Amino acid sequence: MDKADILIAGAALNGLAAAVALAGPRALRPLDVLVLDQADPGKFARDSFDGRASAITHSSRRMLEALGVWDEIAVHAEPMRDIIVTDAKPGAAARPALLHFGEEDHGGQASAHMVENRHLYAALLDAAQASPNIRLQGDTRISSYSFGPGLARVTSATGGEAQASLLIAADGRASPARKAAGIETYGWSYDQSGIVTTVAHERPHGGRAEEHFLPSGPFAILPLPQNRSSLVWTERAEDARRIMALDDESFLAELSRRFGGHLGELKVVGPRHAYPLSMQIAQSFIGERLALIGDAAHVIHPIAGLGFNLGLRDVAALAESIADAVTLGLDPGSASVLEAYARWRRFDTVMTAVATDGLTRLFSNDNPGLRAIRGLGLRAAGSLGAFKGFFMREAAGETGRLPKLLQGEAV
Ligand SMILES: Cc1cc2nc3c(=O)[nH]c(=O)nc-3n(C[C@H](O)[C@H](O)[C@H](O)COP(=O)(O)OP(=O)(O)OC[C@H]3O[C@@H](n4cnc5c(N)ncnc54)[C@H](O)[C@@H]3O)c2cc1C
Repeated sequence: MDKADILIAGAALNGLAAAVALAGPRALRPLDVLVLDQADPGKFARDSFDGRASAITHSSRRMLEALGVWDEIAVHAEPMRDIIVTDAKPGAAARPALLHFGEEDHGGQASAHMVENRHLYAALLDAAQASPNIRLQGDTRISSYSFGPGLARVTSATGGEAQASLLIAADGRASPARKAAGIETYGWSYDQSGIVTTVAHERPHGGRAEEHFLPSGPFAILPLPQNRSSLVWTERAEDARRIMALDDESFLAELSRRFGGHLGELKVVGPRHAYPLSMQIAQSFIGERLALIGDAAHVIHPIAGLGFNLGLRDVAALAESIADAVTLGLDPGSASVLEAYARWRRFDTVMTAVATDGLTRLFSNDNPGLRAIRGLGLRAAGSLGAFKGFFMREAAGETGRLPKLLQGEAV
């Protein structure tokens, strides 16, 4: 029987971030952490990981600095200097900008940094592997779970067993740990898929992110280093299946029609992935000896690029709740620690999910009435400085009681 202070199910972005926060090189009171994943974490790092890129907000960047991983990530990060939002049909000659967020809305700084997930993953994996307090075990599918009294225990498909004071479930949207604990979820599918790929273009993007609200859903062009952009191309699920099956030439033709010609000739330079899009929130973020983080706790539409940032906010709040308890000599998996974590995260998560869902419904629709209303709404938003400031701070996770890690302080 393997024993640890904390068990983490899932070694993708949120599971690794939690391990590094609790036991990485910068942790003030490192715990003994065992991380289990059904995949081989080394394979993730060698391959393209999940093909996605994430917009890392200011507070998330401060947290990655406090964890000691930002320097490795920064060389692959592209500052997002401008965001424009348009509402037009694909192929339209002109796409007037309805809304513009620039550095002036952010005290002269870039609003976020775009980083390919493979680089986020590699930096977190390096930090986890460098820590003597973190044991990473790949190729280990957890097949059964028991929670309490006093401990969480798991058994792997090959019969190995492990126990700890707390199990952190970072095992994704289908979270077997959440299901085993009998925690239900609220939510719905959008009947949309997000097609993700990377393109190289002839002309520089100048750090500009573009969100084009096309009839089938948002088409986001997100700046990456070296004249490349990451695309999140939303389509109805059925159309996405057809597009994913196209040969390379036809795929590029469909993509170019939506992208527009402003950055010159395009070339697809990354693999294509399609992700089903849904909104899902766990009815509780905790159970006995169990804390849910990341997609195991909440899945939101990528329209505002906030999913992983929300996961980092979970990690920061949970790590601080645990560190406070450990300082007082308390059990890190006790009900009082878990309740403090759940109280801290619930409101922010629900607010972000509701706002994201509202945006998705308003913009993934070609109804002419809605088109007119959103034009009016966005123009008003664009001209109201205070509203824009509030919206940007909310999206950047700068409101409410910020956990120390998100302020750049170690725990
Ligand atoms: C199209 C798209 C674009 C996005 N863009 C952004 C963006 O710009 N910014 C942003 O912040 N977020 C973005 N997101 C959201 C973000 O990518 C996710 O929230 C994040 O990757 C979730 O990570 P996770 O670690 O919680 O879960 P996952 O990546 O799902 O990892 C779960 C892990 O658990 C393991 N696992 C599962 N079951 C078991 C088991 N039984 N035993 C052992 N291991 C198990 C799996 O192998 C996996 O490694 C986007 C999402 C989509 C779909």
